Amino acid sequence: ETTRPNNFIQQIISEDLKNNKNNGQVHTRFPPEPNGYLHIGHAKSICLNFTLAEQNGGVCNLRFDDTNPEKESQEFIEAIQEDVRWLGFQWNGDVRYTSSYFQALYDYAVELINKGKAYVCSLNAEQARAYRGTLTEPGKNSPYRERSVEENLDLFERMRRGEFAEGEHALRAKIDMASPNMNMRDPIIYRIRKVAHHQTGDEWCVYPMYDFAHGLSDAIEGITHSVCTLEFEDHRPLYDWFLDQLDVPCHPQQIEFARLNVNYTVTSKRKLKQLVDEQVVDGWDDPRMPTIAGMRRRGFTPRAIRNFCEATGVTKSEGVVDVSMLEHALRDDLNKHAPRAMGVLRPLKIVLTNYPEEQVEQLTAPVHPQDESMGTRTLPFARELYIDEEDFKEEANKKFKRLVLGKEVRLRNAYVIRCDEVIKNDAGEIIELRCTYDPETLGKDPEGRKVKGVIHWVSAAHSLSAEVRLYDRLFDEPSPDSNKERDFKEFLNKNSLQVLTGCRLEASLTDAKPGQAYQFEREGYFCLDSKAGGEECLVFNRTITLRDTWAK
Ligand code: ATP
Ligand code: MG
Ligand code: MG
Repeated sequence: ETTRPNNFIQQIISEDLKNNKNNGQVHTRFPPEPNGYLHIGHAKSICLNFTLAEQNGGVCNLRFDDTNPEKESQEFIEAIQEDVRWLGFQWNGDVRYTSSYFQALYDYAVELINKGKAYVCSLNAEQARAYRGTLTEPGKNSPYRERSVEENLDLFERMRRGEFAEGEHALRAKIDMASPNMNMRDPIIYRIRKVAHHQTGDEWCVYPMYDFAHGLSDAIEGITHSVCTLEFEDHRPLYDWFLDQLDVPCHPQQIEFARLNVNYTVTSKRKLKQLVDEQVVDGWDDPRMPTIAGMRRRGFTPRAIRNFCEATGVTKSEGVVDVSMLEHALRDDLNKHAPRAMGVLRPLKIVLTNYPEEQVEQLTAPVHPQDESMGTRTLPFARELYIDEEDFKEEANKKFKRLVLGKEVRLRNAYVIRCDEVIKNDAGEIIELRCTYDPETLGKDPEGRKVKGVIHWVSAAHSLSAEVRLYDRLFDEPSPDSNKERDFKEFLNKNSLQVLTGCRLEASLTDAKPGQAYQFEREGYFCLDSKAGGEECLVFNRTITLRDTWAK
C-alpha cells in the first residue's frame, strides 16, 4: 500500500538528494493564511508537502502566514491545526507564525535600504497605479526613488513608530519599473496598517507584504523546497530577488504545481466565507461544505481524502477534477471499513401475527460481511418491526424484489415473512402491514420455494429514533465560479439538504460516535452528527449514497 508517489516534484528532490544539495536535507512547509477554514484544495497541498518530507526523511513545518491581521483570527488558527492533525500529519516542532519573524523581516528591510535596494515611496495609491504602467507599457520611476539611504532609514523607522497615516508612505523594493513582469516593478514590501494583530497585538503598525515575507520566512526556517500553486510562478523572480539581495541562511527553491479544482463546488476561501457569512450554509463545517471540517462532520475519513489527493496527481497544468472521483475514493474506503447497521428512514410498521407477543430473540449479524475480524452485532427481533415504506407495494411486477401483498421477502439477517393484510387509515394511506414469519428460515432457504428479495428492518420497540439529513451536491452546475456574468451563488442546489424525521435505527447505533461512518444496509453511508441532536433524538448525516445516483 505504500507506493511512493513519483511526481515531478519528487523527481526534483531525488535529483537534489543525489547531488547532496542542501546537505541532503528535505524541509518543506504548509503555509496557510488563517483567514478561513481549509478546503479540499488545501488538503492536496498538505498531503503533498507532508508526504514529500516524510518519504525523503525530512520534516514539514506548519506556518501561519499571518501578515493581513484584519482578516485573520485565532478561531481559524485553531481550526487549521485540528484539520492538519485529523488528516494524520504531524508538523515539525511547534507551529510557526510569520508574525514571529516581524522583527527579523523588519531588519531585512533595513538591510535592503542600506544596500540601496529599497526606498520609501510617498505616492498615493492612485498615483502609484499610474506610475506602474500596464502589461504593454513600461512603468515610470517614482519621484521618490532616489531618496538617500539616510532619508529612507529615517522615514521607515518613523513609519514603524506610527508617525504617519495609512497610505501616506510605503516601502518599495528598487528593482525595475520597465520589467515585463509586473511583480518586479518596484513592489511594495511594507505598508502602514494601524490595526492590532492577533499574535503581536499593537506592537506593529507596519506589516510586510506576502512576497517579501514568504520567501524570507522560508529562508529563516531552513526550508529547502517551497511548494506553492501555479499562480505564484511569475512571483518566483521576486522570491529569488529578495533572497539574492539579502544575507540569508539559505536559498529555498520555489516549485509550483497546479491547484486542485473540483467541479460542483468552489475551492476559494473567499467564496466559502461568503456562504458562511450570508448563512447559506450552517457554518464552515456544514456537511455540504468542501472544507476539511465540513467533510469530517459529513463522515469523510482522512484516508479517503488522502487517497483522493494522491490519485489526482501533481502536475503543471490546471484542470478540473470530477467530484465523482472524490466520491469514489470515499465509497471505496467506507465500503472496506465502515461497520454495517440497519436504519429505516421512512418507517412502515409491520406486525408478525404468528410471533408470540412478549417474545424477543437476539439475532446476530456480522459487523462487516467481508471482514470477520470486525465481529458481530446483536439484532433484537420481535413481533412489531419497521421496514421502509419504499420496500412495500400492494401490487408489483417481478422486478420489484421487495415485499408485495400476498408474497414473501427475506428480512436481512433474519426470517422470511409474508404480507397477509394491508391496514389503511381513513385517508387511504397505508399505516401498517399484517405479516406472518416462517420460523424455519433463519439462516436458511425456505422449503421448496425461492425468495429473492431482501429488505432491511428494525424492531419497533428496540430501535432508536433519529433525524437523518440527506445531503446532495451544494451546486447543481459543474463550474459555479467560472461564469463571468452570474454570481456563483445563483448555482446553488436548492435540494442540497433534505431532512427526514422519525427514522428508526438499529439499537447497536446507540454507541455511535461522530466521525464513525456506518453503512446503513441498502441505504448508504451515515455518521452521527457532531453538533446537532442528543440522547433523545440522534441526528445522522448521510455521508454518501451506496452508488453514484447523480443524474444530470
Ligand atoms: P484560497 O484561494 O482558497 O484563499 P489560498 O491559496 O489563498 O487559498 P492559503 O491559506 O494561502 O490559501 O493556502 C495555503 C497553501 O495551500 C498555499 O501553499 C496554497 O498554494 C495551497 N492551496 C490553496 N488552494 C489550493 C488548491 N486549490 N490546490 C492546491 N493547493 C492549494
Ligand atoms: Mg494565499
Ligand atoms: Mg486566498
